[in-house]
Amino acid sequence: MNVSIFDDVKSIKGVGPKKAKVLEALDIFTIEDLLHHYPRDYEDRRIIRTINSLKEDETVLIQGKIRLIHKSRYVKGKKRTLRLLVSDNTGDIEVVFFNSAYLERILKKNVEYQFYGKISRNNGRLQMLHPNLSVSTGESAPGILPIYSLVQGITQNEIRRWQKEAISYMKELEDHLPLYLIKENRMCDLHYAIENIHFPKDVQKLKESKYRLVYDELFLLQLALLSIKQRFDKDISGIEFSNQIKMEEFVSKLPYKLTGAQSRVLAEIEKDMESKKIMNRLIQGDVGSGKTAIAATAAYKAIKSGYQAVLMAPTEILARQHKDTLKSMFEPFEINVELLTGSMTAKNREGLINDLKEGKIDFLIGTHAVIQEDVQFNNLGLVITDEQHRFGVKQRLLLTQKGSNPDVLVMTATPIPRTLAFILYGDLDISIIDEMPPGRKPVITKVVNRNTGREYAYDFVRNEIAKGRQAYVVAPLIEESDVLDVKSATELYEELKNRFKDYKVQLLHGSMKQLEKDNIMEEFKEGKIDILVSTVVIEVGINVPNATIMLIENAERFGLATLHQLRGRVGRGKYQSYCILIAEEKTELAKQRTQIMEQTTDGFIIAEKDLELRGPGEFFGVRQHGIPELKIADLAKNIKVLEKVHK
Ligand code: ADP
Ligand code: MG
Repeated sequence: MNVSIFDDVKSIKGVGPKKAKVLEALDIFTIEDLLHHYPRDYEDRRIIRTINSLKEDETVLIQGKIRLIHKSRYVKGKKRTLRLLVSDNTGDIEVVFFNSAYLERILKKNVEYQFYGKISRNNGRLQMLHPNLSVSTGESAPGILPIYSLVQGITQNEIRRWQKEAISYMKELEDHLPLYLIKENRMCDLHYAIENIHFPKDVQKLKESKYRLVYDELFLLQLALLSIKQRFDKDISGIEFSNQIKMEEFVSKLPYKLTGAQSRVLAEIEKDMESKKIMNRLIQGDVGSGKTAIAATAAYKAIKSGYQAVLMAPTEILARQHKDTLKSMFEPFEINVELLTGSMTAKNREGLINDLKEGKIDFLIGTHAVIQEDVQFNNLGLVITDEQHRFGVKQRLLLTQKGSNPDVLVMTATPIPRTLAFILYGDLDISIIDEMPPGRKPVITKVVNRNTGREYAYDFVRNEIAKGRQAYVVAPLIEESDVLDVKSATELYEELKNRFKDYKVQLLHGSMKQLEKDNIMEEFKEGKIDILVSTVVIEVGINVPNATIMLIENAERFGLATLHQLRGRVGRGKYQSYCILIAEEKTELAKQRTQIMEQTTDGFIIAEKDLELRGPGEFFGVRQHGIPELKIADLAKNIKVLEKVHK
């Protein structure tokens, strides 16, 4: 029979309907799927070791005859053990299995078996605990064996057998990479790679195969993203905003001159807006780089071209802050800016929704409240989301559906290293504001030792608040639900409350209701709170110019990107600001990381360093929707390959 790799996996000997059903759980339907189910690990069984050469802690393959079999008696609640004495012609060793009734039945004295397992020491004697066992075939060692992720109902030996057979049907599998790419990157071909990823002849071949398949996977992912983007680019059903309305009209009325980066980004946006294509643009700009002015200018152009614009912010306080800023910016232009949030009275809301529908409101600012179903626009042309990582893609989509192919701007203050951005945001156009407005006093950052520097840090805080300034204190927290960390922040709060009796200290934690959090932030903004202790990342984007201290407890437990975000909460006014990192730098890595924070305030440099030192884990949370699960590539380890792929 002629079997093709595109056939159902049931074409493989031993895969019946039952096993096929189990394989479905691994997303394996065809023989090709099976071939792409790569091993998660390998066992090196190339060499049969002599028993007299074994050392503690090695994982090895031995081959020998069972000389003695000893079964422990059944004792309730205790593991049953099966002890074997195994010998080859150099010596003997004890091999121990636990709860192996099945093995008790099948193992026979004086028959030769292979055992693969870890050597440990017990009462001074070496033994092998619960090894992998196979009947010796009389041949030499089986080689490097693949270990697969399994589900109940399939064994390693079965899947190995199936893979062996699947490989024999590979003829039809075409190599989808062009030859020049394969050559340029000195890669092996696809057949070779698949064969050797499952059954590598040696370590070098495994390495070559792995490289090829990692490259392959990242390459295809990048292509897929680019093709989505290309589809957007070709879609000419977007709005052509008037080329008679120039952004410059608005920009020239701003109280400051735009930075070069701001101007460049605006030019990119203006070009998008005047074209028929639907803008899908991500604006990456560090905290304080002036994204609000960008949003406002784009909105100006949309509104003066006869459309409405909407800006969605993740929290009520942030939305309110935006509304205040934008309202005053648009005052001279007869542009009507209104705020829609969840806390409005029903009556006010109704009036507002009516006005919006009738087109009396030009620019709507709001929280999630703006995506509610009864919120309808007259002629929505531009959708802006601020701190977009706080929103799901779905929410953004709901918002865009309120218009007819509106242009979309998403803004984020989390700098992402370029290489990663191509994967995380591969379907968007990216603009980067990589320059700060002039005259900013960079925040001074200091790392102090947890045990020896605390007094100094607290004195410093006291000094600043005595001058009328305010401080943020942040305790580590990985998950909002992490009860342990909530307690530690509470402890810190109690400690500070005692120490700063003459000042107002307030705790803010993640499990509070949004409204309660907003209220506390509002009080902080109004200067009614001197020290704000927080268990969560302080609301992004919040602007409290009078706050000059960011004190971070256990700073070594935060990623650099997070530390940078937190630091961005201060240094927003005319006062010199400080970031104090209380840290226990146990490792060299921890030391390096905190030092970077002392050395630079450039978010992009920090992001690159973080990627270098810790891998990309921290960046993944910033985009809520999935890049597909990767089979073999690991973005944490394969950044270098990703760079090549991108090129
Ligand atoms: P972010 O990018 O964090 O949203 P903002 O838009 O809030 O930053 O800007 C931070 C501050 O910088 C604001 O007070 C804003 O008025 C000011 N700003 C923005 N652009 C400039 C500029 N080109 N020159 C001077 N100040 C600016
Ligand atoms: Mg902002």
